[in-house]
Amino acid sequence: MTAGIAIYGGTFDPVHIGHLRSAIDARVLLGVSELRMVPSHTPPHREQPGASALARLEMLALATRDLSGIVVDDREIERSGVSYSIDTLKEARLAHPEAPLFFVLGQDAFALVDTWHEWQSLTDFAHLVILERPGTEAPQPTNPVLEWLTGKEIKQVTEFGHSIGGHILRVKLAQLDVSATDIRRRCHSGQDIDFLVPTTVQDYITAHDLYQ
Ligand code: ATP
Repeated sequence: MTAGIAIYGGTFDPVHIGHLRSAIDARVLLGVSELRMVPSHTPPHREQPGASALARLEMLALATRDLSGIVVDDREIERSGVSYSIDTLKEARLAHPEAPLFFVLGQDAFALVDTWHEWQSLTDFAHLVILERPGTEAPQPTNPVLEWLTGKEIKQVTEFGHSIGGHILRVKLAQLDVSATDIRRRCHSGQDIDFLVPTTVQDYITAHDLYQ
């Protein structure tokens, strides 16, 4: 069987230990050869990032440099304009027609799934892996989401079997209550961000005067 690939999208403004620990654990849990962290160019569902696309990409590259099997994928930034996850999944499926694909996202991001472009087609291209996140409650899904979940939700990673997409699994990995919003706030108010981001990212933020 072709080795699987996981895609972890986000703003990563900046990347922090919550993202990195989840990425490491998800890669191991899913047994994929590669987990790709895909920073979005213009996130459609939120206010615009505090750091440029290039800065977010460079911070991700620094943060993942020594992590085996975790790579940064700049396709959404290269694509430019509004970033839609569905386009990223379609591209990944085209490039890897036979591989299991896993789209990894936090519970807070999943809560808004029915506002995403072509959301009901996400599972046509990949499995969805939803990470529980401390400080966020599992939302009560809307009726269209409930309908869409029916028959797709599985309870154990083993139930993915050899399938390449179509299932949805909720998982509880390391629970690190860290958010990029809090990190930006801390930088803005002159508080330290020790141990919330890798030191390479911390040095980058200082050198580029980010989030002031
Ligand atoms: P912000 O505070 O700016 O909203 P964030 O910390 O949520 O940022 P994003 O870049 O928006 O970071 O997150 C990318 C993805 O990572 C989302 O799917 C989000 O749910 C998930 N995520 C972020 N932080 C954590 C965390 N501490 N644990 C697990 N998942 C997380």
